[in-house]
Amino acid sequence: MAHQAISQDTLWEKVAKSIEFIPAEYSSRVQPESVAREMLRCESVEIDRLVDAGLPFEERSGVRHFDANDLYNLGMYSNKGNTQPELAFRMLFRFAGRPVDALLREKSWDFKVQLECVDCAGVAPWHFEAPDVARYGGRAEVATTPQPSSGSAEYAATITTTGARTPIVSPVLRQLTQDYLDAGYRWQMIPVPMQADYQLVHSLGATSCIAASLFLAERFRSAGYRAEAKRGWFCGVLGGALDLPHACVEVEDDDGAVRTVDIAKSQLAARLSADTADFQELCLGSVYNKVIPSTASGNASFGHHECGSQTPAQVRADIRSAR
Ligand SMILES: [Zn+2]
Repeated sequence: MAHQAISQDTLWEKVAKSIEFIPAEYSSRVQPESVAREMLRCESVEIDRLVDAGLPFEERSGVRHFDANDLYNLGMYSNKGNTQPELAFRMLFRFAGRPVDALLREKSWDFKVQLECVDCAGVAPWHFEAPDVARYGGRAEVATTPQPSSGSAEYAATITTTGARTPIVSPVLRQLTQDYLDAGYRWQMIPVPMQADYQLVHSLGATSCIAASLFLAERFRSAGYRAEAKRGWFCGVLGGALDLPHACVEVEDDDGAVRTVDIAKSQLAARLSADTADFQELCLGSVYNKVIPSTASGNASFGHHECGSQTPAQVRADIRSAR
């Protein structure tokens, strides 16, 4: 009953004002109103209020359709407590409040990636940016790699990750990281193609994993460090309930070691709960077992099909804890 009382009082106008809607050129308004109501646990009249407050939509066959990122961000910042985005993030980051030792152990994952070329022009080789775990103490036992084909292909492997406490030593890198955190950019779900335009994202006062890493890598390089944003997979995203793109910055530290800064995870954890300080610190240089790094650079896609089709291939990962 407590939740119901809160939901009737949700100041949707205020929530709508507090987030940045995805600009039209990056927006994909395909979620029907029924999905919006379910995600936000609200009634039609509340959707009306959101639309009045600026929530972009497209009407098709008399039904309003919305961008999934907009709905996620409204839910995340609604403070209702029962929206799907809030529940998903709370579940996803539950680990961040626990002792971090569990994140430093070896862990194995059943890792499958489905590559799909929806407008396929015929048989051709695939290019896939595979897991790249050996550099951080992990290993991959590859079962299937994409073979030349048309339409679709699969990569399957057992990936073992591990962790290590290797905090950033350079005071300069520490300061640049802290400056970024102090700047108060607001974490939002943002479509991957828009995140590549990291200057646009930050000019809106927003941030997200890939955009944050591209931005911070640029700052590190400006300070004379060798740094590159790299994409990877963040494990434990249950049943695909949350398609959370992952990226971090790889930077050569003062002692010559290459370390990773996972700035957006640190920021997200801080936003979700105050008892995640140890995890937040782990994100600044250390390695933990819930991330599978890849060979893809920060603004690259994980895969493409060389058939000549202009439509980008879709890459879907299914990562489960191995027994
Ligand atoms: Zn193709």
